[in-house]
Formats: sequence, C-alpha cells, structure tokens
Amino acid sequence: MLPISLARTANGPCTCGVNPVQALRSWAAVLLLLVVTGGWASAQRTTRIHISDGFDFPVGKPSADGYYKARGMRLRPPVHFGEDWNGRGGGNTDLGDPVYAISNGIVVWAYDVKAGWGNVAIIRHAYRDPATGQVKHCDSLYGHLREMDVKVGQEVKRGDKIGTIGTNRGMYAAHLHFEIRHDLSVGMQRNSVPRDLTHWADPTTFIERYRRLNKEWGKQRVPVGTFKEYAGHRGL
Ligand SMILES: [Zn+2]
Repeated sequence: MLPISLARTANGPCTCGVNPVQALRSWAAVLLLLVVTGGWASAQRTTRIHISDGFDFPVGKPSADGYYKARGMRLRPPVHFGEDWNGRGGGNTDLGDPVYAISNGIVVWAYDVKAGWGNVAIIRHAYRDPATGQVKHCDSLYGHLREMDVKVGQEVKRGDKIGTIGTNRGMYAAHLHFEIRHDLSVGMQRNSVPRDLTHWADPTTFIERYRRLNKEWGKQRVPVGTFKEYAGHRGL
C-alpha cells in the first residue's frame, strides 16, 4: 500500500506538483512582466533639437556656387540613392573643399566605415511642412568625406562646416555623395526600405521646396536609436 501523499500525486489531476491557484498567479506575473518589458522595448528614445529654418546645398554655401551635380538620384536600376556633387574645376580640384550642414539638426552618425564609403556623417533634422503645418523629420547623409569636423550627438546649425570633400582613399575623383531620407531607419542599410519617394527624397527637389522656413523658438523632439548596427557602430 502507498503512503497517502504519493497516492494522491499519482491519481490526482496533473498540475506538476503546483497548486492551481499559485500557478495562475505566477502566469499572471509572467504576463505582466511581458507587457511591461514589451512596453520598454517599443518605447522610442528621443532627443530635442532646434527645428529647421530652411535647407541649403551642402557645397558652395549656400546655393552650390562653383559646383555641379555630376550624378542625380535614381531609385530604379542602376540605383543611385543620392547626388554626387563636384567642383566645376573638375578632377580633384574640389579635394578638401568645405561641406556644410544643409540645416539645423543633430549628428546621428559620424564614422569611418571604410569599404566603398570612407567617412560618413548623417544629420537628423526636424522641419515644419508649410503645406500641412506638421513637424516632419529627415536625415541628410554626406559620404566620402576627407575630414569630419563633427561627432555623434553634436547639434549643428544650417551652414556649419561638418567636413571636407574627399576621394575615399583614392577610390574616386573627389566628390560629395549626398542623400536625404524621409525614413529615419535607413542608416547604412539602404536596401532595408522600399525604393520610393515615401522613404527617400530627391535632394535637390527637397532643398528647393524647403529652402526658406519660418524661424521658431524652442526645440522639437526627434527619434534617436533608429539605426541598425553597421561596421561595429550603432549611431546616436
Ligand atoms: Zn554617389
């Protein structure tokens, strides 16, 4: 004959030795934990920056004087996600020329990522679209810089020098590769979003459209922590 406690375990409903009420409580605790941590994981980090008062060209401040667009943006093959700006003198005559922030913003990327890029700076902007009155965000990217004068987390003003035109260690004739993205998640993963004008801006069209915006006091929130890791960096 079995001791009474063992007999009960063998014949009773199997709750794996756990009191059903206790089991329910611990499941409720797990569920609550999931809800709370899930909430943290999806909470978007933000920072506050000065809103744009207009956008200028990144070379030949402020209107690309002395430069020309050697190659435009193209979202169908052969794809070119931005514009290539060269000095009118040709060749490497523009090597070391200043590159400027196209508007107020915060530096969210400023690293030498080597490969076909070299030094890349990305600046995040907030601007009020006069058509809707809504505040929008965008990123501007400056590639193949010879020198970078900015650091991640640094606020910049429209027209601040952020670096100089480079060749990516002699890979190209000196030029600035320049992009504007509506989608703040792109970072260095350019194939992670659809190739359309919802996610990408034609830089010249964008600058001409938002050339002059009203000055505003105070700061606006922009999301940060939106990039995937690339070349060992995550950005701001
Ligand atoms: Zn290019």
